[in-house]
Amino acid sequence: MNKVAPESQVFVCAACGKRSKDRYGDQKIDRGWDVSCMLNAVLCYEEKSETGFWIVVGKAERDAEEKLEAEYDEHRKARRRVRK
Ligand SMILES: [Zn+2]
Repeated sequence: MNKVAPESQVFVCAACGKRSKDRYGDQKIDRGWDVSCMLNAVLCYEEKSETGFWIVVGKAERDAEEKLEAEYDEHRKARRRVRK
């Protein structure tokens, strides 16, 4: 399943360092994002740290983000139900 990185985050290929906004490379930032990049993709913060390394987005934060998304979906569904 494709996934677009949230605001200020980006997928980075752990093997070659190419970047893409989404996992499949539909919104790739660097040329040549391919299947192996997709498989090695790690969600990172868009800005590198001062040391020049990517900072990986922690699991707790990813979970929180997904929870928010799920709640937002619920919210939209609820609104749709009201509109009918
Ligand atoms: Zn790669």
